[in-house]
Amino acid sequence: MVDAAPLKQLLKKEGAALVGIGDISKALPREIRHLNRGVAIAVNRGLNKDSIDLLCGLQRSAEDWIRELGFKNLSIPPDSDRRTGKLITRLYKLFCHKTAATCSGLGWIGKNGLIINSRYGSQLSWATVLTDAPLKTDKAITDSECGDCELCVKHCPSGALKGGKWSLSDPLKQMVYYDRCKALKSNRQRFDEKPNCGLCVTICPYSRKSRKKSMKEKI
Ligand code: SF4
Ligand code: SF4
Repeated sequence: MVDAAPLKQLLKKEGAALVGIGDISKALPREIRHLNRGVAIAVNRGLNKDSIDLLCGLQRSAEDWIRELGFKNLSIPPDSDRRTGKLITRLYKLFCHKTAATCSGLGWIGKNGLIINSRYGSQLSWATVLTDAPLKTDKAITDSECGDCELCVKHCPSGALKGGKWSLSDPLKQMVYYDRCKALKSNRQRFDEKPNCGLCVTICPYSRKSRKKSMKEKI
């Protein structure tokens, strides 16, 4: 077993808000089943305008660290880089960041269909490095911590959120009618050209708590 603490310290020193190690062996497609550890890396979008650049740099640092130990790795691009159409973004089809985040205990899937961290809400951008290094894993989060809250479900203007609770034992449960959410593209001008309204992020109590904290840190 390889101690992951030095890797976590390195990435946090370079700007990561969260780093976790998950046993993702049950969630991997056949092509990459040998890479059974997921290094989940998150940065705070509220504090970092260039979160994609930062995440790519953090992935490179993780890759170097793992390679020096003599193990293989494969970086899945940051989630916020999803629409660039680069060759590397095809890797999304192989692996989902949500799996590494939940398996490494960094969050659960909220009723808004996004990773929720108890400290940062959905205000995070994510990247993952898969590896065959036998890194010591963190304890997975197995159930939703949304509780009775339904704010995002009730306020979604397109009725795109189903309102069910996620659990690790049913990771493919449909939480969001994505076609309804995307339908709002016709209203893009109202949302500053963003692909959707984002209300389900801003209204979440966990995200609101995080935004207040970020604002205080900026002052
Ligand atoms: S982005 Fe807007 S439309 Fe899409 S699920 Fe969230 S609240 Fe609903
Ligand atoms: S708004 Fe409430 S129900 Fe929706 S993701 Fe946040 S905590 Fe969960």
